[in-house]
Amino acid sequence: MRAEPEKIRNYIGGELVEPISGNYLDNIEPATGRRYSLVPDSDTRDVEAAVAAAEKAFPCWAHTPVAERSRILLRLAELIDRDLEKFARAESIDTGKPLTLARSLDIPRASSNFRFFATAILHTEDQAHVMDGVAFNYTLRQPRGLVGLISPWNLPLYLLSWKIAPAIAVGNTAIAKPSELTPMTAFLLCEICREAGLPDGVLNIVHGTGPKVGASITAHRKIGTVSFTGGTVTGRKVAEAGAPLFKQVSLELGGKNPNIIFGDADLEAAIAGSLRSSFANQGQVCLCGSRIFVERPAYKTFVERFVERTMQLRVGDPLEEGTDQGAIVSRMQLDKVKFYVDLAREEGGEIVAGGASPAAPNERCEGGYFFSPTVITGLPASCRVNREEIFGPVVTVTPFDDEEQVLADANDTDYGLASSVWTQDLKRAHRVAEGIHTGTVWVNCWLVRDLRVPFGGMKQSGVGREGGNEALHFFTEPKNICIAR
Ligand code: NAD
Repeated sequence: MRAEPEKIRNYIGGELVEPISGNYLDNIEPATGRRYSLVPDSDTRDVEAAVAAAEKAFPCWAHTPVAERSRILLRLAELIDRDLEKFARAESIDTGKPLTLARSLDIPRASSNFRFFATAILHTEDQAHVMDGVAFNYTLRQPRGLVGLISPWNLPLYLLSWKIAPAIAVGNTAIAKPSELTPMTAFLLCEICREAGLPDGVLNIVHGTGPKVGASITAHRKIGTVSFTGGTVTGRKVAEAGAPLFKQVSLELGGKNPNIIFGDADLEAAIAGSLRSSFANQGQVCLCGSRIFVERPAYKTFVERFVERTMQLRVGDPLEEGTDQGAIVSRMQLDKVKFYVDLAREEGGEIVAGGASPAAPNERCEGGYFFSPTVITGLPASCRVNREEIFGPVVTVTPFDDEEQVLADANDTDYGLASSVWTQDLKRAHRVAEGIHTGTVWVNCWLVRDLRVPFGGMKQSGVGREGGNEALHFFTEPKNICIAR
């Protein structure tokens, strides 16, 4: 007899509760295509309950000494570390990403987020401005109150904790909504919050769809601050909902990131880096470099060696240790990837690796959403495949002749999230980095993150910056106090 699927519950006022409607959505395991748990199909009423709990908790939490808030957040980090394996497994089952990746990257980064902001709040500096003989001014930074935190499915715990940690560290109370596709790690986090002694109502998690739960959060008059990470189309809706209410909104959106390899680059390092930046998490990282540009003298060798290495990547059961590439997160996302590979063919591209779903890696994964890592050549920089976000294991490789041309091609997109440059010429590295319109430029590396730097995108990749002081500022409201002398 098959076991009943686990029922995920909302976390409101410190209690794990059923959605008021009693309705649930299926939570599908991408590697098998089968339901493995149920996620609350919450609505406005559940958001209202979370708002009431957050409102009740706010005055006390906002006045809780910084050292105490810091202690609780550090405890949360320790408990995530303690339960690393449990979290990593849940993340792998929920998302389809290899367990080895969840264990080595996503979950450790989630605990780093709590640790980073737990200690950052102990070291903030306040400003004072002294006016000759007249007055002095100081700026008081106070928590904003109730904050809404909405996150996507690709790095579920990492991205949610990147918002929760700074928001509550500075004294806000939060209503968080994880993606309905990947709710499990947020559910596990609730158990840990109770164990860490986080007061009831400081963090509330409401599961469900974007149109019901997400839209209720962005439209709620009492939630004055919204931090959103997700697609650009959804980001526009979040901005539209917040504008009439003058909400403080941060938007971390999509990307179409260029990866530029000059002829003088350390080619082995550039190939290894490009392999990661193209296919990490099946290409479902907003920072993945989906457009590779290679200077013509190195182009042929790069393509040969890159394709060879791509074909060696093992697409497999995410729970198996030797797997490099797991499953795509959903049937819908898999269809989107297939659509763009077909479009690449129509646009005149040549598929030099991958291009289709492989055979199921084992019996368990027969209904899973797998797609082979795919390399496409022969497409102009201006075609749709090179301009629109695919968000899957698909990368294009295009030759270029000079710096001016590659900068124009790299910038010829509505997005501006991140980029990589591979060269041994220091002056060129600085010059090209300055010329690229992206919020982050990596030189001879990829995905190296210092949590102190401002993180975010330009153009349609987002508004606002997260990380370090930017996050502490985003989640606090500055008040100037002027005292006559
Ligand atoms: P999505 O926009 O579909 O969903 C993101 C979240 O918004 C989900 O929780 C969803 O339920 C919710 N949502 C949907 N409609 C809503 C609405 N009307 N109002 C409020 N919330 C709503 O994105 P996704 O498919 O989950 O994630 C993939 C996208 O996220 C990609 O475009 C990727 O580039 C982007 N992303 C960006 C970053 C970044 O830091 N810039 C990081 C990760 C992912």
